[in-house]
Amino acid sequence: MKRLKIGVFGLQGDIEEHVAITRLALARMGLEGDVIWAKTAEDIKSLDGLIIPGGESTVIGRLAEYNRALKTVKERIYEGMPVLGTCAGLIMLARKVYDRVVGEVRQPILGVMDVVVERNAFGRQRESFEVNLRIPVLGEEPFKGVFIRAPAIRGMGPKVEALCRLNEIVVAAKQHNMIGVSFHPELTNDTRLHQYFIKIVRDVT
Ligand code: GLN
Repeated sequence: MKRLKIGVFGLQGDIEEHVAITRLALARMGLEGDVIWAKTAEDIKSLDGLIIPGGESTVIGRLAEYNRALKTVKERIYEGMPVLGTCAGLIMLARKVYDRVVGEVRQPILGVMDVVVERNAFGRQRESFEVNLRIPVLGEEPFKGVFIRAPAIRGMGPKVEALCRLNEIVVAAKQHNMIGVSFHPELTNDTRLHQYFIKIVRDVT
């Protein structure tokens, strides 16, 4: 079987944490693979799958626009390259992004996933929190959701499937080879979400 090459979009955010947990997930699956920091359009072209980390979506978007990787990421996703976006990464994937206070925001995004996302949706008092989530595709055992100034999915197109809800709010969704989650799986040592993503990468590679 081909050696998988998975990139973590390496401009800003929780990059190393995603690299580490993706390596652990591959090892637990008994799969060979390389996990790299992917920064440039050239790096992106060589990947079988991409993870867009949490961080600050306005910074990731602007840097990616500046170094022209944004366009290449978009093209590769349209060609079918699987992508996992976590927190700011989910914001990057969304078709439309808004902020409760300032309304629709005009930051550079990919706009590839048919979801409408609200930034910083969990309010001030609850800026950061941890909660056990039920994510049926990952099995019965609860998944620790680490939320840090997290976005929420407020609207979904017909091709999008909700993978997880927290009090009615969609916090994880999938559309074909794209997965977006509001929380930070890379800050836990639970590799199930990464394994679920790697399975998708393996199936299309
Ligand atoms: N609030 C951040 C943003 O809008 C996302 C926070 C995070 O990734 N932890 O980009």
